[in-house]
Amino acid sequence: MVPELIILPIVLTKRRIKKAPALTIDKIEAPGSLGYKKVFELRTDKFLGEKTDNISHNQAAGCHFMKIFFIGFGQAGGKIVDMFLSQDKRLGTNSFRGIVVNTARTDLMGLKTVPMRDRILIGQTVVKGHGVGTDNAAGAKITLDEVDGVMSAIDRVGTHDVDAFMIVAGLGGGTGSGGTPVLARELKKIYQEPVYVLGILPAPEEGRLYSYNAARSLKTIINEADNTFLFDNSAWKNEGESVKTAFQRLNDEIVRRFGILFRAGEPGKFGVGEMVVDSSEIINTLRGGGITTVGYAISSVSSKKKQKNVGAFITSIKDTIIRRDHEEEGLLGEDRTAKVISLVRRAMLGRLTLPCDYSTAERALVLVAGPPDELDRKGIEKAKSWVEENIAGVEVRGGDYPVNSEFVAVVVVLASIGNAPRIRELLEIAKETKDDVYKPDRGKKSTMFEQESIEPLFE
Ligand code: GDP
Repeated sequence: MVPELIILPIVLTKRRIKKAPALTIDKIEAPGSLGYKKVFELRTDKFLGEKTDNISHNQAAGCHFMKIFFIGFGQAGGKIVDMFLSQDKRLGTNSFRGIVVNTARTDLMGLKTVPMRDRILIGQTVVKGHGVGTDNAAGAKITLDEVDGVMSAIDRVGTHDVDAFMIVAGLGGGTGSGGTPVLARELKKIYQEPVYVLGILPAPEEGRLYSYNAARSLKTIINEADNTFLFDNSAWKNEGESVKTAFQRLNDEIVRRFGILFRAGEPGKFGVGEMVVDSSEIINTLRGGGITTVGYAISSVSSKKKQKNVGAFITSIKDTIIRRDHEEEGLLGEDRTAKVISLVRRAMLGRLTLPCDYSTAERALVLVAGPPDELDRKGIEKAKSWVEENIAGVEVRGGDYPVNSEFVAVVVVLASIGNAPRIRELLEIAKETKDDVYKPDRGKKSTMFEQESIEPLFE
């Protein structure tokens, strides 16, 4: 028993952890103890009067940072999830957990961090560990046949304190493209936590089959997942660079953005932020479904404020900043408010994970990460207003994330976007590629797919 946990104040505020010292992260993270369970039961019905849906143990106990369960599906998904887990291991944060699933043995063997027992090979009797190539219908079929094994592996790793699931996959291939919507449907059947997808779009140069696969997969995923983040390989590779040689760099970009987003609210050396972005805010931002894109910008702190001990957290982004650093020193100076606003504008107007018309976004979330001195409250509020003026909806959430770093990083989530030329282009290529007849879309989550004659993988 852990009696002090039960007598915590009933009304939770965003800064509960500071105000209730008895509630330490160590204590909360003793899964399975009686006291732990008790806290969960006591708190869920009094959680700020909110719906208790999607409230996990760590939220219920006043510890709001998001716990994500990643499933890396196929080669691209596996590599990216391996990177998320290795970032987590390096930082010692224990925010992420996950498994990887593939029909190709060699892809699974090539990973570095995911424990061997969490690398799940499916379709062995059908493709003998050689993968399904670009046949995403085979990927879907094998996943459907073996979904119980995948669900058991997820269960074994542990889902008791998870806030959301995130399936990561390249949508142009076979295994991840076909398996992702099948698994999303199954997870939603079993768990009440939201199921998100992080999908990688193929570059047109990879060929029409990849675009066709991605269009069909995406059309199916939109109806199964609670929200779908997209990353467009073609928008991110450099001129003249092949997609393949760009993979490592692109994956770094992905893990950097989503790593910051999904760690927001996590108490660090500086405690939790003044304006915490907790998991329920991320979940509410994504509630509308459809497609979501993410913007990102970074700037160094002015030199006299530079921290002596630079944390590992944002150091890896140093290289991206060096060019801009010089240009911005004069502009930003001591004006932290202006600096935050400028960074948020740059994140939203710069290259998004899926380039699109940001003004069609239904909701947004603004997250500013950096040393506490730089996290200007007024700047965040003003930046939120600016985002609100520039998107279709009025819901803009935001907050800060104090970390020990020489850099200030901004992540802007633009959720449920209404128009992305890249998706139209993809659907157009796919339409030309297929000979099947038009079937009406039963989905309602994104109007972008309504008029298209691309058949989903399944309905
Ligand atoms: P699967 O193993 O059958 O699921 O297929 P892949 O995961 O290889 O998916 C193929 C698609 O993912 C293609 O569009 C590739 O360009 C893309 N892809 C493969 N590996 C990576 C990677 O490491 N990073 C990124 N960003 N894209 C990748």
